[in-house]
Amino acid sequence: MKINVLDHGSVEFIEMWGSDERVVEAARMSTGKGFQGWGRGIQCEYCGSLEEGSVCGATDTGQHKMGPYGPPGDEKLLASLYNHKHMTPFEMAGMVIEVKAPLFVFREWHRHRTQSYNELSARYTPLPNENYMPSAADIAQRVALALGSTNRQASGTDVEAMRALTTGVINQWRWDLDVVYARAQAVYEHGLKIGIPKELARLPVPVARYSRMRASAVLRNWLAFLTLRKAPQAQYEIRVFADAVGTLIEQKFPRTWELFAKEQEYGK
Ligand SMILES: Cc1cc2nc3c(=O)[nH]c(=O)nc-3n(C[C@H](O)[C@H](O)[C@H](O)COP(=O)(O)OP(=O)(O)OC[C@H]3O[C@@H](n4cnc5c(N)ncnc54)[C@H](O)[C@@H]3O)c2cc1C
Repeated sequence: MKINVLDHGSVEFIEMWGSDERVVEAARMSTGKGFQGWGRGIQCEYCGSLEEGSVCGATDTGQHKMGPYGPPGDEKLLASLYNHKHMTPFEMAGMVIEVKAPLFVFREWHRHRTQSYNELSARYTPLPNENYMPSAADIAQRVALALGSTNRQASGTDVEAMRALTTGVINQWRWDLDVVYARAQAVYEHGLKIGIPKELARLPVPVARYSRMRASAVLRNWLAFLTLRKAPQAQYEIRVFADAVGTLIEQKFPRTWELFAKEQEYGK
């Protein structure tokens, strides 16, 4: 599964190990009982159908109502582990992803020391000419957010400049940025052509340039990353990548995700 992010970026699932079940199994090492099974499923309280959304004939009478059935199972243990921060069992599962993102996003991402990384090396391979270009609408929205927030991004003269910013001025800046990108690329390519070693020829490459990396982490550390980088305080450009990572975690570890999302109060 590959999720497109920003104008040229993506987050792609490569592989995973472990599962919600393996987390429970690891925790049960203390008693040697292993994974016992998930309990409470969903069942129609009227007809007993186990299929959510299925029609049991009682729909018209309003009696068709899906509700929990069976005794609580290991989801109770999983919730207890998570809610009491007994986190080592969540190190028994993990995921590898491939990310294509601008260098300035990688710079923030690589601060997370509990992930393992391998990145494309511009010492050996010329970086493709792809640079992040925020849309005028995105920029305007960020200005509005900065003006409405209490953080230090908007203070003093910044506020006056921000208030005076028009779409025309934003587009002029974007045009200037495009010119800089084109000039930087020309210097890069010229350097390569005249024999400047790749490791030096790359010097003009902007931090907006897209690169690629593989990142691997255990489930516990993916959740720590998501806690910081899905938060509203995180810069938008890394936040949207974290959202994509979250989508993959939700898909691969749905029960752990449910507990995490509840704790983070997503959707509220
Ligand atoms: C909104 C936001 C703004 C930020 N602004 C800045 C900024 O202005 N300047 C800046 O430099 N950084 C900034 N950062 C980066 C931040 O300081 C962290 O480097 C980054 O979020 C990684 O967090 P971490 O250390 O918890 O993650 P990881 O490195 O993955 O570590 C995970 C956990 O492992 C433990 N750990 C790892 N290494 C050590 C160690 N050496 N010693 C003790 N415990 C360790 C800690 O418990 C840590 O929380 C910002 C981050 C965010 C989310």
